[in-house]
Amino acid sequence: MKKEKVDVLVIGAGPSGTVAASIINKAGFKVKIVEKMKFPRFVIGESLLPRCMEALTEAGFIDAVKEKKFQEKFGAKFVKNGKVCDYFFADQFTPGWNWTWQVPRGEFDMTLAETVEKMGVPVHYETTVTGIEFNGSDSVTTIEDIAGNRSQIEARFIVDGSGYGRVIPKLFNLDKPSDLPPRKTLFTHVVDTKRSMDDEPNRITIIVHQKGIWIWVIPFSNGKTSVGFVGDPEFFKKQEGTKEEQLRALLATEPYLQERMKGVEFVFEPRVLESWSTTSSTFYGEGFVLTGNVTEFLDPVFSSGVTLATVSSQVAAKLVIRKLNGENVDWNMEYTEPMMQGVNTFRSYVNAWYDGTLDTIFFSDNPNLEIKNMICSVLAGYVWDLDNPYVKNHDTALTKLSRLINLEKVLAG
Ligand SMILES: Cc1cc2nc3c(=O)[nH]c(=O)nc-3n(C[C@H](O)[C@H](O)[C@H](O)COP(=O)(O)OP(=O)(O)OC[C@H]3O[C@@H](n4cnc5c(N)ncnc54)[C@H](O)[C@@H]3O)c2cc1C
Repeated sequence: MKKEKVDVLVIGAGPSGTVAASIINKAGFKVKIVEKMKFPRFVIGESLLPRCMEALTEAGFIDAVKEKKFQEKFGAKFVKNGKVCDYFFADQFTPGWNWTWQVPRGEFDMTLAETVEKMGVPVHYETTVTGIEFNGSDSVTTIEDIAGNRSQIEARFIVDGSGYGRVIPKLFNLDKPSDLPPRKTLFTHVVDTKRSMDDEPNRITIIVHQKGIWIWVIPFSNGKTSVGFVGDPEFFKKQEGTKEEQLRALLATEPYLQERMKGVEFVFEPRVLESWSTTSSTFYGEGFVLTGNVTEFLDPVFSSGVTLATVSSQVAAKLVIRKLNGENVDWNMEYTEPMMQGVNTFRSYVNAWYDGTLDTIFFSDNPNLEIKNMICSVLAGYVWDLDNPYVKNHDTALTKLSRLINLEKVLAG
């Protein structure tokens, strides 16, 4: 079998794989990416958060992405029964980026992959990792191309950024169930010809449809818009007909969208995804690190996926460089703990979203602006700023605030 040698093998050319590959390559190591699909490929996850701009900058991707003129995103808008809660990243508590993009991921991911290739990292498309053998931290990975040709890659280290493919967790039994209940989505892209009827046509909007069920509306600069219903799988069981009929019927029941979405052209047959929350029993091992979705993916509601994917790779890449340079790395303290700090902050917000705590806070009549700016930082992805009480005390602060708001309501009669 054909064999080649690299310093670092990266599995997957999504945001996590390409960010890691770029940073390690810049440090002078020989890196190769193996990617199962042909790009551009569809993947969901179209709304980015400002914090990921730092990772994209460090990876050297930001100028290439800017050239694509994706829809800029300056905040997020939440809507419930006609009431609006607006967050503007410019108001956030934590210093940092105050804007980002809404992107069709096929094109966005291809931009990152093409840029990393130009930097000298080969990307082997339509090539799947089928097996890995570790000998200490050295490894031999077997890959198979679309024609069925098998070959091997010897590497000193592997970064697994295989997203929903979960290559290393599946090969080495590291999959662990998430503590979040299963949820489901039905979504498509539409040709959004009537978006100008909205007072902010290009703004991402999250609509509370009913308790536990919400809708994303993510307009792109190409005139198309991503729309999806998310929530308890039981809710979708009540829908009848084809997926297109189901989604059209659901859109017709949502007052905020029914006019805009009436008769719109669907770009593709609506798709269903469910039970996406998973985690791994460890995020690293001798000779490998997991980054991006392979570590833990929670829920789409706060658009945390690509940010956690790129930031985990940004952090992991620097640790891999140190390791290859012969330095000691405390993977638990320097990687798992900070990553879990971010994931667990988002987890508290996701739970507070589904149990109604955030409804009370987002749609309160007199929000405390100082607190709102602290929450805004979390929504911008700045979930590692422990100076922010709404990050540091993420597991208690939201419940306390919503109790206070409810008490004030009672006292006001
Ligand atoms: C319904 C839903 C909505 C979402 N909305 C958002 C959102 O608005 N914003 C957001 O930030 N995130 C969102 N996400 C999350 C987002 O999809 C992911 O977090 C993000 O794509 C993770 O990036 P990644 O690079 O880790 O993995 P991916 O983008 O999945 O990339 C992994 C790559 O690895 C390749 N691969 C897999 N197996 C193999 C193999 N055996 N060999 C070689 N290559 C392989 C795949 O082909 C893929 O290209 C959403 C998720 C869901 C389920």
